[in-house]
Amino acid sequence: MPEIKAPRGTLDVLSDQSYKWQYIEKKAAATAIKFGCREVRFPTFEDTNLFQRGVGDTTDIVQKEMYTFEDKGGRSITLRPEGTASVVRQCSEHGLFGGLMPLKLFYFISAFRYEKPQAGRFREFHQFGVEVFGPSDPNADVEIITLADSFLKELGIKAQLYINSIGCPVCRKKYQDALKEYFESRKDDLCETCKGRLERNPMRILDCKSPVCQGIGENAPLITDFLCEECEAHYNVLQSELTAGGISFTKDPRIVRGLDYYTKTVFEFKDPVTGLAILAGGRYDGLVHEIDGKANVCGLGFASGMERLVSTMEREGLSFGEEPKPKAFIACIGEKGAAAARKIVYSLREKGIYAEFDIMGRSLKAQMKYADKIGAQYTAVLGDNEVDTGKTNLKNMSTGEQTEMSLCDISDGKF
Ligand SMILES: [Zn+2]
Ligand SMILES: [Zn+2]
Repeated sequence: MPEIKAPRGTLDVLSDQSYKWQYIEKKAAATAIKFGCREVRFPTFEDTNLFQRGVGDTTDIVQKEMYTFEDKGGRSITLRPEGTASVVRQCSEHGLFGGLMPLKLFYFISAFRYEKPQAGRFREFHQFGVEVFGPSDPNADVEIITLADSFLKELGIKAQLYINSIGCPVCRKKYQDALKEYFESRKDDLCETCKGRLERNPMRILDCKSPVCQGIGENAPLITDFLCEECEAHYNVLQSELTAGGISFTKDPRIVRGLDYYTKTVFEFKDPVTGLAILAGGRYDGLVHEIDGKANVCGLGFASGMERLVSTMEREGLSFGEEPKPKAFIACIGEKGAAAARKIVYSLREKGIYAEFDIMGRSLKAQMKYADKIGAQYTAVLGDNEVDTGKTNLKNMSTGEQTEMSLCDISDGKF
């Protein structure tokens, strides 16, 4: 074991596991592209102000979990704790909110939160995210939920959809007052963190992990009883359109989400076995204005944790496709054979075929053992004699069958 180890809460994806990640990323991108989304990339770190504004000052993320540091130029820099704020910053900075709408985007990122490392939670974690800007209509909410649903179905994951509306700033004000009044009457029993939340953002108490606070939260007023006419109508259309689209859902008035900028629709796809969300998102109509300062553009999106997707699929025994295996391993004896083997392998690779040869200077026996270990479909041996006659036996490793072939045909991949 080396003296220096990976920092706590980080993940190594080893070379024999990465095909699982590639499989999920490929399915994610293909689904997003089918829905008209295009990929964006953006910096790992941003000006700290971006997240203070775009995630919310009262959230646990901003208050406790961000990796913030001063760089050598004295700027306050933060490693992104999520993707949405950066995507909004990117679109704003490049003037896209004044252009063609809707903007439909997706991304793969790693993000950073200083959390207590525990099963399934990482300090550096990975997400597939989708953001859509422009539409205020509930049909757009249906569209991204459908995208999320197709993506999970594509992977074979059976998840249950839970939806809620958390209203707009107008109706939420009334709700927050009612919540404050409710929790105020039980203030002495709340945990220390929640006592502070009572003043800043009482909705956050509903997210508290302490069992006592959760117990108190169970009888708290529900946001859905406070929705204004517009929010209520939006929520109703969402439900009827999801039903019309054949997507089943459960209403859960207790989903509030940990970020400040959500409005109206919030949703979670939960793993029925663990009860944990494997994909979550919602609408955030106020966020673009918050970050851009001028544009009033609606937004909505979701993110799904890669680590959780991988572990759910492993647990369920779902397919990640095939791990790549070489079609041919060309073994060699002697210098002439080695040169010919290399030439054939390069020719095969040029034709798009995955082929291997020995670069370790191993004996023939060891080369064949290696070819077997890496799962080569075919093997051939080249020595002086084979090079001189231009012929060798090609062996099918699964059947053991040997066929004499010309080196030219092998080079051309005619097997
Ligand atoms: Zn409202
Ligand atoms: Zn609490």
